[in-house]
Parts: sequence; C-alpha cells; structure tokens
Amino acid sequence: MSLLKTLEGRVAIVTGGSGGIGSAIVSSLALAGAKVVIGYGARQEVAEHLADTLTSQGANVVIMQADVASTQEAKNLVDKAVESFGGVDILVNNAGITRDGLFLRMKEADWDAVIATNLKSVYACTQAASRYLLRSSYGRIINIGSVVGISGNVGQANYAAAKAGMIGMTRTLALEFAGRKVTVNVVAPGFIQTAMTDVLSQEDKDRLLGDVPLKRLGQPEEVAALVRFLASDDAAYITGQVLQVDGGLTL
Ligand code: NDP
Repeated sequence: MSLLKTLEGRVAIVTGGSGGIGSAIVSSLALAGAKVVIGYGARQEVAEHLADTLTSQGANVVIMQADVASTQEAKNLVDKAVESFGGVDILVNNAGITRDGLFLRMKEADWDAVIATNLKSVYACTQAASRYLLRSSYGRIINIGSVVGISGNVGQANYAAAKAGMIGMTRTLALEFAGRKVTVNVVAPGFIQTAMTDVLSQEDKDRLLGDVPLKRLGQPEEVAALVRFLASDDAAYITGQVLQVDGGLTL
C-alpha cells in the first residue's frame, strides 16, 4: 500500500466501512492521509477494530453507525464528518447487500431491501453530503456498483436494478455537479473475495472463475486502489464514468 500522503487534508466518508471492500477502501484513503468516517451497519466491533488498527498506524479516523437507507441516519453520518473533521470532500457510497432469488419467486421484501440499501442509500447519503461536497473545491463522489449492473445476472434482478440505477444517477450527478468541479464515478467490481462471495458454493465459484480471463477472484485492495486514485488530484478530469475492476469478466 502506498504511503504517499496524496489525500492529506481531505475528509472522506466511506459507507459499509466494516465490510470486505469498504474496510480496504477506508485503509487505502486513511493511509494516504485522508481523515475518514467509517460508516457501518450492524458490526460495531469490526469497525472499532479497523479504527484501532489504523489509528495505531497514525491515521485519523472515527466510526459511525448509520442505516444508509434512512435519510435521517445518512444525515447523522454526514454530521459526524462535519463535527469531527469540518466538512466532506470525498463520499464513497459502498454499503450494499444481496437478497438473491429467481425473479418469478422474488419476494417484495427482498426487492425493497436491496433497492433501499443499494440505491436509495446513494440518494440519502449524497443529498446529505452534497452541500459540503459542492462547497469543497475538490469534491469526489465514488459509487461502488457492480458488473451485474451492466450485464445483469440470473437471480439478481433486484441487485442489478439497483446497480444499474446507480449508473444513471452517477451520470446525471456528474452533469449537475460538474460546474462545481465535483466528479462522480462508479467503480464496478466483478467477483471480489469478501463475505458477499464467501457464501457462494465451491461449484458456483468454479463456474464463475471459468468466465474470468484472469482466472482468480479479485482482492478488496484492488478495488480500493482505484477508489484512492479517483479520490486523488490526478483523477480531476474523470467524471461520469463506470470503471470495472473485474479481471476481464465482461470481455
Ligand atoms: P460486505 O458484505 O463485506 O460488506 C457490506 C457492507 O455494507 C458492510 O460494511 C455492512 O455493514 C454495510 N451495510 C449493509 N447494509 C447496510 C445498511 N442498511 N446501512 C449501513 N451499512 C450497511 O460486502 P462487500 O464488501 O463485498 O461489498 C461492498 C460493495 O461492493 C457493495 O456495494 C457490493 O454490492 C459491491 N460489490 C461487491 C462485489 C463482491 O464480489 N464482493 C462485487 C461487486 C460489487 P455491517 O456489516 O456493519 O452491517
């Protein structure tokens, strides 16, 4: 991991910071010098452990519980960043869940939960953070999508709809916020080794890897490296894009 402090002085919020990809993003941004609010849902001990580890490495992070599907709790998350660090420069909308099932059997509750957690959350957190992002001379919104939002996937109509919706929203916000130099992009991972993919059977994993030209699962750090780049000054001219980290899966 780079020790260059390319994000010194920036304030970041990462939702889903207690998860596999989220914790790698938190570490990457914090060790590059950003002050980071680690958003989490249910797993306080995981968030605390991550915060303790990073603090012992000299990073400046705080944790905050918030259900990102709630506009009030999303606002509390942003308030935490403002109270702790004075504003928001980087918002990473990463929290997400799956509730898979073939469409004909998909329960309304599973549809609603995935749309709320994976898509409405992007509305809620971005609404709450946008006045600070627009005030920053440097705003960055990085939405963690999925290749499934591009290609679709059997058993994931709810998840694919949420991630595809995120792409349309990203392109629209990129246009609406461009005048204030805020960039808005999607990072779309393929199959990354986290709790989300650990639940797959070995048979499913073998089948999926058959479609990945690089013949392995990706690592959370490989997603985090792109997020850190998009958050940096070097990425100031990239906006409205969907960048895939997928080992060539969609080729
Ligand atoms: P994990 O299951 O490891 O982490 C999910 C994170 O989301 C956790 O931190 C969890 O918090 C948080 N979360 C879930 N629901 C809520 C909620 N209502 N409010 C607040 N936080 C919530 O998943 P990954 O790290 O694998 O996934 C991260 C993102 O990457 C997701 O958006 C996912 O769709 C996307 N992605 C993942 C891929 C993969 O292969 N792993 C592939 C493509 C995309 P807590 O645990 O504290 O409740």
